[in-house]
Amino acid sequence: MTELLVLVDHSGGAPRRITLQLLAAARAVAPALGAEVAAVWLGPGAAEHAATLGAHGAVRVHHWDSADAKGYVTLPQVEALAALVAADRPAAVLFASSNHVKDVAARLAVRVDGGVITDATGLAVEDGAVVATKEVFGGDVITTSRVADGHLPLIGVASNAFAAEESGGGPAEVVALDVAPSDAATAAPVTDAVVQAGAGRPDIAEASIVVSGGRGLGDASGFELLERLADLLGGGVGASRAATDAGWYPHRFQIGQTGRTISPSLYLGTGISGAIQHRAGMQTSQHVVAINKDPEAPIFQIADFGIVGDLHQVVPKLIEQLEARRG
Ligand SMILES: Cc1cc2nc3c(=O)[nH]c(=O)nc-3n(C[C@H](O)[C@H](O)[C@H](O)COP(=O)(O)OP(=O)(O)OC[C@H]3O[C@@H](n4cnc5c(N)ncnc54)[C@H](O)[C@@H]3O)c2cc1C
Repeated sequence: MTELLVLVDHSGGAPRRITLQLLAAARAVAPALGAEVAAVWLGPGAAEHAATLGAHGAVRVHHWDSADAKGYVTLPQVEALAALVAADRPAAVLFASSNHVKDVAARLAVRVDGGVITDATGLAVEDGAVVATKEVFGGDVITTSRVADGHLPLIGVASNAFAAEESGGGPAEVVALDVAPSDAATAAPVTDAVVQAGAGRPDIAEASIVVSGGRGLGDASGFELLERLADLLGGGVGASRAATDAGWYPHRFQIGQTGRTISPSLYLGTGISGAIQHRAGMQTSQHVVAINKDPEAPIFQIADFGIVGDLHQVVPKLIEQLEARRG
């Protein structure tokens, strides 16, 4: 049977939550494609997680058990995937819409004559082809697109667009993928990898809760308050460009058109006006809560729940309540 392949994101060892969401997305469209869901794991460690992948719907996991998956920049992964695609001829490949994987997908597309769609928030099957929905221009326009017939669809799915759910399957069968990367692919070894400060908190692209701060915080110390709130909620901390440009928080946490795109279950914006460029990065959040002292702030137009007030009074009260509940 044809496979619908899911590229496993296992940075950190175990499959990340986005992988389980991708498997849910794959399960939603695989029957209409006449395909079964399979995973592909690049690097050591697949066998230990075959049960998890199976429980989320993968019947098998193609395993490239090679340290080369991590030891070099991108290309060995591309070659391994290209070899699998050539042998397996999957109906489509789903991947996490992270910057690293987008790079892999773009290079893979060139090699296998595929087409790439990124940041999909919905998938369907029409006339036997996968159709992806995505929001563009800050969420003002929703597009549906598909890869032209005869080309392999490579579809990046946004974090939290699908809910990870177990399907009750047994452990995925682990099938070895035997590929030796070319000399060209191993020309750029990774010599060092530094874990950035703040890594103790979930990455904002993956976190189900993101607490975000803007110019209204007043200065960098406002983010210490937000970090306390985020830690109580088990969330990540993001920022508007005004806040990152002011040097109050690192640029890698900027959300928006020129920053990161997030789709958490809950986005809590504090002291953020809700400019269109910011909304471009968080518009697909499932629930938006805003704290702003200006009742006319545009963020309230997209908020499910709004608090008009001074964040320096509201946020400490929230922290107090959450701490009291924790006991
Ligand atoms: C090409 C381009 C790309 C851009 N890309 C991005 C991007 O990726 N991300 C991004 O965020 N922006 C981006 N911007 C900037 C964007 O247009 C806005 O300027 C920016 O988002 C504003 O940030 P802010 O909401 O923190 O600040 P402001 O717009 O200044 O809003 C601050 C808000 O805080 C409220 N406030 C003030 N004090 C308090 C208080 N004590 N309590 C509660 N509320 C308070 C105010 O009422 C106000 O609504 C881009 C702009 C351009 C031109």
